[in-house]
Amino acid sequence: MLGPPGAGKGTYASRLNTILGVPHISTGDIVRDEIKAQTELGKKIKKYSDKGELVPDEIIIQLLKERLEKPDCGKGFILDGFPRTISQAEALDKISNIDVVLNLNVPDEIIVTRLSNRVTCRKCGAIYNLLTLKPKREGVCDNCGGELYQRHDDNPDVIKERLNVYREKTQPLIDYYKKKRLLKDVWCKDLMTPPETVVEKILEILGETGKN
Ligand code: AMP
Repeated sequence: MLGPPGAGKGTYASRLNTILGVPHISTGDIVRDEIKAQTELGKKIKKYSDKGELVPDEIIIQLLKERLEKPDCGKGFILDGFPRTISQAEALDKISNIDVVLNLNVPDEIIVTRLSNRVTCRKCGAIYNLLTLKPKREGVCDNCGGELYQRHDDNPDVIKERLNVYREKTQPLIDYYKKKRLLKDVWCKDLMTPPETVVEKILEILGETGKN
């Protein structure tokens, strides 16, 4: 899944995970787990994540490699938030075969509104939006009853930096995958479009490419 922060990568990937039965691998979640566990690596990468900067390629590539070696990835996987640089994409080419790249196109106004209203479950990682995808009980996850919190990096200054980083470092991947004929565009121009509608579009695309 390719797209700026707030494009819905995590929301759609978690639904596709249930429908397709392959794991949803979010490198952002892996980074947050390391930080939470206060490992040596976690301490090292916190300073990047707090500022909205990218964790160095060699660290994130290693973390992804370890995750892809787990047995649940044998039948495939959905990547969310990786690759984010050309050098990560080249590393990925060496360790795996990517079938399709879904490029989520979302206007900037929607991204900022979405990120400022996003809350996430501390326990299961489910994503909600206080405007468009509200939990049934305030502050409580519908799925598991876990506590909902606002991500530290979902504040206006860090959001701005994350969007800059996306444009500079990640956007070039659109051309990279276009050239490999793997890129499929997905559009979401309206804040109120329910995730299910976009997921249906994605499933159509996967059906056309024979990957569903
Ligand atoms: P995300 O949840 O995908 O927005 O990621 C949160 C933060 O984790 C990012 O702002 C980066 O600091 C770090 N991160 C996640 N994935 C990557 C990646 N592929 N390369 C570098 N840093 C990453």
